[in-house]
Amino acid sequence: MPHGEQVPLKVVLPRDHPRDKQIRAALVSAKPPGDLVNHGGPVLAAVELATVFVGAAWDSSPLSTMRDDLNAFFDALLSSTYFDRLSIYGVGRGRRAGTQTTTDPTPATMTDQALRAIVSRLTAGQITPNADTLVALFTPPGTVIDATSIGAGKTCVDHCAYHDFADGVAYAALPYFDCAGCLNVSAPKDVFASMCRVASHEICEAVTDPQLTAWYASDGEEIGDLCNGTETALGKYTVQKEWINGKGCT
Ligand SMILES: [Zn+2]
Repeated sequence: MPHGEQVPLKVVLPRDHPRDKQIRAALVSAKPPGDLVNHGGPVLAAVELATVFVGAAWDSSPLSTMRDDLNAFFDALLSSTYFDRLSIYGVGRGRRAGTQTTTDPTPATMTDQALRAIVSRLTAGQITPNADTLVALFTPPGTVIDATSIGAGKTCVDHCAYHDFADGVAYAALPYFDCAGCLNVSAPKDVFASMCRVASHEICEAVTDPQLTAWYASDGEEIGDLCNGTETALGKYTVQKEWINGKGCT
């Protein structure tokens, strides 16, 4: 499928986005989209997650603390019973394969193309991609991602995060939340908790549908989309509920 037709597949929507209301309405309607269907494409069966913190700002406190906390969150997430539930989709536990902080410039608006260029650069150098590679890119405060070119719009307006693939390598774009619409309802001042929740949505989608050809429902929504906006706990972390076939959002 060409880029641009898949917006609902790969973005976490801000809470006040019309599409989010539509998803919630669908979930309570008499005819929900139903379980995820395997469309035959690959999954990331044992994800090797490379976290990439874009911009030198991540090297200074307090952002460096959040960077370290996010890495610890991913270590917990990828080896959790929460993640084990993805086994029905052919996905087992994964691991964090590495992390780095880059010195790329971080203007007020960064394009998706700029993020793809970073993925290409890293996979040509420091990261040796394999079939299970997923690159998670974090942009710092004050930077909005413009993914209009792939139909995912702008941070805080059209998405809180999204995932896609570049040159066959899956990546997730995870901007820092400077806006209320992407923050948790239960803890609206906790940017870290909100970012963990949205990251869980994107990581679960990226491993079950890395090329947008594997697991999604009849209306195109992925494992996280069907439960968009929900919250639950994973130990001390906040995560999103995900769609588990036969069980729904849990
Ligand atoms: Zn999604």
